[in-house]
Amino acid sequence: MAGAFWGIVEDDRQGNPKKVTAEVLGEASRLAAKAGSQAEAIWITDKASESGIRLLGEWGARRVWLLENAAFAPYRGEVWTPVVTELAGTESPKAILGAVTTRQRELMARLSARLGLGLSADTTALALDGEQLVATRPIYAGKLLAKVTWAKTPWLATLRPNVFRAEEPQPGVAPSVERPAVSLPAARMTLVERREEASTGLPELAEAEIIVSGGRGMKGPENFVILEELARVIGAAVGASRAAVDAGWRPHRFQVGQTGRTVSPKLYLAFGISGAIQHLAGMRTSKVICAVNKDPEAPIFKIADYGIVADLFEVAPLLTQEFKKLLEK
Ligand SMILES: Cc1cc2nc3c(=O)[nH]c(=O)nc-3n(C[C@H](O)[C@H](O)[C@H](O)COP(=O)(O)OP(=O)(O)OC[C@H]3O[C@@H](n4cnc5c(N)ncnc54)[C@H](O)[C@@H]3O)c2cc1C
Repeated sequence: MAGAFWGIVEDDRQGNPKKVTAEVLGEASRLAAKAGSQAEAIWITDKASESGIRLLGEWGARRVWLLENAAFAPYRGEVWTPVVTELAGTESPKAILGAVTTRQRELMARLSARLGLGLSADTTALALDGEQLVATRPIYAGKLLAKVTWAKTPWLATLRPNVFRAEEPQPGVAPSVERPAVSLPAARMTLVERREEASTGLPELAEAEIIVSGGRGMKGPENFVILEELARVIGAAVGASRAAVDAGWRPHRFQVGQTGRTVSPKLYLAFGISGAIQHLAGMRTSKVICAVNKDPEAPIFKIADYGIVADLFEVAPLLTQEFKKLLEK
């Protein structure tokens, strides 16, 4: 429908939409209800599933635009962008919302350039002010919040994970499914020949409700097992500061901060991290922050809700033990 609020689907490449999509569609539904419109999902995939389509309906999509083709995997911006551009040209949505994930960050930036429209990246709030959408986004490494708006529609925005509320799932709400015919551009980039999924068995950083992060205070890569044990007990993801990443203790995809991931979990536990401004830029919107540092003057304590001045090598195993006991009860 013209004037619809679109949410781009992020999936696990096995036909299952991810939790960030529930948040994007939740926000699209709330805005659409206020604007007298509806939320619609754009699912670009090589492998959709019936259960995935049902889920999108339960999360608020009244219609799913299903673009299913082998050429859509793996993600390539030069293939996805013209397809969404063409569909937006024929369907005239009011807004296109994505999530702050690696591929959607790129896709939305490309769309913004292709459509000649502004993009609110890493948005933390959206509100309709009469006929106009107003986005809030952190700037200057989170020091200030800017309010931005658009000169033209569709409004383009990427939404920070774990900030927007998903709608209560409405079981049994079936969305209509459209399979539009779109022209498929030829891929011009050479494909990666081999792809290795390096799974840690722990939740992904961007989606985790709890994150346990380690910094230079961890003293070496071998000590991260202490944090992994704690993470396993409480269902957390493990992150790292840039100092730990630069030292080669953790891969870059685990880095939290200005030049790494921006996260917003319910609980962020920082071990041996001093709290440099660039680290805070990536985690200061966490709901509860708990820091363990042996230096009582460490800047991280200024933004921590709970602070433990102690040696992390004593505190982390103790916390693991105590959580284990609590969760076994
Ligand atoms: C352009 C730019 C971009 C950047 N981007 C990022 C980014 O994305 N993410 C990021 O994290 N940083 C980033 N940085 C780097 C940032 O400025 C800091 O250098 C970095 O965050 C420091 O990491 P750290 O806190 O682990 O190390 P440190 O600052 O060295 O702190 C280590 C802390 O561990 C404590 N400690 C030591 N031993 C123990 C122990 N046994 N028990 C408890 N505590 C202990 C110490 O008291 C200290 O506070 C960036 C810098 C620049 C210039």
